[in-house]
Amino acid sequence: MLKELSISTRSQVEFIDITSSVQELVQESKVKEGICWVFVPHTTAGVTINEGADPSVKRDILSHLDKLIPLRGDYRHMEGNSAAHIKASLVGSSEVIFIHEGRLLLGTWQSLYFCEFDGPRHRRVMVRIMID
Ligand code: ZN
Repeated sequence: MLKELSISTRSQVEFIDITSSVQELVQESKVKEGICWVFVPHTTAGVTINEGADPSVKRDILSHLDKLIPLRGDYRHMEGNSAAHIKASLVGSSEVIFIHEGRLLLGTWQSLYFCEFDGPRHRRVMVRIMID
């Protein structure tokens, strides 16, 4: 089944932990064993899995991405948000997570993050839950 999350981001660049929201969709689906696909249908946002325990990890990823891909550079894109497009391609627009015993099978320290690179905006996250 196909489900959708709506997200309002608050900053130009931020990671939002969507693990519990996606887990709720899995619970609603009643699927015990299967696969959960998470897809972000935007060109300046993405999704990634990384550590959720220490917020410094999120901060370090964002600040290092800023150093690698500065806001202003030798970009041609007229809209002026090339840095956001490049970051979105680097983190990617989808993740696949196994569902086991009705839960997302994430590692102990893993969280699922929506990655905003050109906010604040209203965003969508598509979630497809498939039974084995
Ligand atoms: Zn653009």
